[in-house]
Amino acid sequence: WKNAPPTMRFLLEASRAHADRVFVIYEDERVGYEAHYRAAAALAAHLVSLGIGKGDRVALAMRNLPEWPVAFFAAVSIGAIMVPLNAWWTGAELDYGLRDSGARVLIVDGERHGRLEAVYAGLPDLERVIVARATTPLAAGVERLEEVIGTPAAWPALADAALPAADIAPDDEATIFYTSGTTGAPKGALGSHRNFMTNIMSSGYTAARSYLRRGETPPEPTPRVSLTVIPMFHVTACSAGMMGSIASGSTMVFLRKWDATRALEIIEREKVNMTGGVPTIAWQLLEHPDRARYDLSSLDTIAYGGAPSAPELVRRIHEEFGALPGNGWGMTETTATVTQHGGEDYLNRPDSAGAPVATADIEVRGRDGVTVLPANAIGELWARGPMIVSGYWNKPEATAATFIHGWVRTGDLARIDEEGFLFIADRAKDIVIRGGENIYSIEVENVLYAHPSVTDAALVGVPHRTLGEEPAAIVHLCPGCEASEAELQAFVRERLAGFKVPVAIRFLSEPLPRNANGKILKKDLKALFADHVPMTV
Ligand code: ATP
Ligand code: MG
Repeated sequence: WKNAPPTMRFLLEASRAHADRVFVIYEDERVGYEAHYRAAAALAAHLVSLGIGKGDRVALAMRNLPEWPVAFFAAVSIGAIMVPLNAWWTGAELDYGLRDSGARVLIVDGERHGRLEAVYAGLPDLERVIVARATTPLAAGVERLEEVIGTPAAWPALADAALPAADIAPDDEATIFYTSGTTGAPKGALGSHRNFMTNIMSSGYTAARSYLRRGETPPEPTPRVSLTVIPMFHVTACSAGMMGSIASGSTMVFLRKWDATRALEIIEREKVNMTGGVPTIAWQLLEHPDRARYDLSSLDTIAYGGAPSAPELVRRIHEEFGALPGNGWGMTETTATVTQHGGEDYLNRPDSAGAPVATADIEVRGRDGVTVLPANAIGELWARGPMIVSGYWNKPEATAATFIHGWVRTGDLARIDEEGFLFIADRAKDIVIRGGENIYSIEVENVLYAHPSVTDAALVGVPHRTLGEEPAAIVHLCPGCEASEAELQAFVRERLAGFKVPVAIRFLSEPLPRNANGKILKKDLKALFADHVPMTV
């Protein structure tokens, strides 16, 4: 494979160099790099025997199991397009993903198979279903993954077979990842092998860049242990998480289900070096009442992205965990990371999402979508680089509106400072406009987070007859903490202009509802203000 083109097939083959290392830990199961390769190669051969080849879609609906990376690599290694579906989706949403992608094969875990059985018959393109860890008897024609490649414990004994031949070029399509559906129906972002490969390489180089800037020699990448708590169908987990691990021979630990206590136990047991994913995970670890009982000394990094994070979080991670916080901005359309933030830079600019990775360009443009705004002016963020996908699957109009002259129009409002650091202000769709004055949610949320009792906060607009809308907030307080609506309003009034003060604040006893990718469901939260009566003007 020494002269192989830079594709994910090459990455899988090269990962055998880490043969003596553990690739995935799931509960009590440990899968080594060599075993992973053998299982992926065996499943790839099976897919070829089913007539699957270049450009065919293979869908995957599965919780974070060791079978997830195996299915992913089996499909992309034979030139098929892997379609990771959101495992939180219900029957109707999975039906949409399978129908939209036109998948010929579905690889599914037992749990989701149970939810889906009823929809298979109505899917004209679906020819084969392969079930991992089936929990019920299977109908005729449905295959058991274990009969094809065995259970993870048996993978090391699989034959040492070469991957089936396939002619894959770096720009060939490799994946359809669905966007989170925060602002509308999820859209399938069509990613290439090159999108993923450049992503790994540029984040490695970007980490080295901070050493080079200080005139120091960057350390060799060393194997690490990461606790992967975000779902693998999220492009960040797959790209930065899984591909990044493979590049350095690192170990990923999967949890059956997110649970802060379990996460703390695992960090101690497996001497985990890094975790995070989305900011809410970091908050829940910080707020855990028994955190001091665990030895968390191995943990040196808590990195996240995908949603806004308050400066308060940055400070607390550093002070209370002695770990370094990390942040990154990206979207499904950018195969994850476009900006990266960490170390001293992040401690000094805790409200930034970082500077672009070495291969990305970012710009803030005005309403016309053309004029580039000066430093620190807020406008729409545009991004360009080899990690940007070619477009949306099956959605020519959305593609034409979003992917323009090599740039992606992000729908996020942001500013870039004189040194090139990015500060996200809001999503264009979430900005609250009160009588013509712009209120950027993140500014107000960050102030609420700075209140000692608040651990979760969201700003939304509520309708007002003459002003159009007014800001209102939803918060969750730390266990045993107290704060009244008037107290929080006064806290914001002391720090921000009066028009930004939420006119009403609702308190939730649980952390705010989020989707599978860690984004607060603001559309749903607005309903909490249905009985809100605006003050007349
Ligand atoms: P949809 O496009 O279907 O509405 P979505 O935009 O939530 O859903 P993703 O592609 O998962 O789907 O998320 C990308 C968005 O997440 C970005 O546009 C941005 O709003 C937000 N985001 C990502 N990283 C950060 C970050 N570091 N800070 C703040 N917001 C972020
Ligand atoms: Mg989006």
